[in-house]
Amino acid sequence: MKTYKIAIDGPAGVGKSTIAKRLASLFHFTYVDTGAMYRTIALYYIEKRLPLENEEVVLSHLNDIEISLRYIDGMQNIFLNGKNVTDLIRTPEVSTGSSQVAVIGGVREKLVKLQREIGEKQNVVMDGRDIGTKVFPDADVKLFLTATCEERAKRRMAEMREKGMQASYDEILESIRFRDENDSNRKIDPLKPASDAIMVDNTQDTLEQTVERIKNIIKERLK
Ligand code: C5P
Repeated sequence: MKTYKIAIDGPAGVGKSTIAKRLASLFHFTYVDTGAMYRTIALYYIEKRLPLENEEVVLSHLNDIEISLRYIDGMQNIFLNGKNVTDLIRTPEVSTGSSQVAVIGGVREKLVKLQREIGEKQNVVMDGRDIGTKVFPDADVKLFLTATCEERAKRRMAEMREKGMQASYDEILESIRFRDENDSNRKIDPLKPASDAIMVDNTQDTLEQTVERIKNIIKERLK
């Protein structure tokens, strides 16, 4: 059975997940947040107090990690060895850690395999860093979202404050720059647009405007 795949890539804080969720709901596709998978891997090592920057250590435990997704009230929930860790993976420590484990080839292979399996079973809107370049090079629509670091930091700060979390603009900006640098310069599957991706700079746009813009692009492509 042919399944449709919409790939949404871009850097941290560009609004990928919010936009991808809205699009999935509009087109009745399953939303898959691949960043949550890298975060879950990082959480495993953080909880076990293992050095996640040490490739040898990370690889020696990789087979002990089982990740699964379940949809509860339409929301993606992620499970680490059977435990729901959806809320636990949203800390600054896990954000930094996820970007560190994401440079390791074995980690990427494990997660790309899982992502492909999910996409073969259903129509998906999948967001990440390498969906259009690596996971689904044959995706039906590939979008690459961008916005300036400063704008992304502002948005992240507003989002965290809304959730009642403490947030400093400078710290968020620094974390975004760290992850941009790590994600763009890693050797394996770095963050970069696929040659046939449609570039969407949303620095000046509201969320609504970006969703509307992309919705029209997808409709045109899936005709
Ligand atoms: O999207 P999110 O910010 O939750 O992703 C967390 C981290 O996981 C990113 O900084 C990146 O290093 C990594 N990642 C990746 N490939 C993906 C999705 C996320 O390398 N497809």
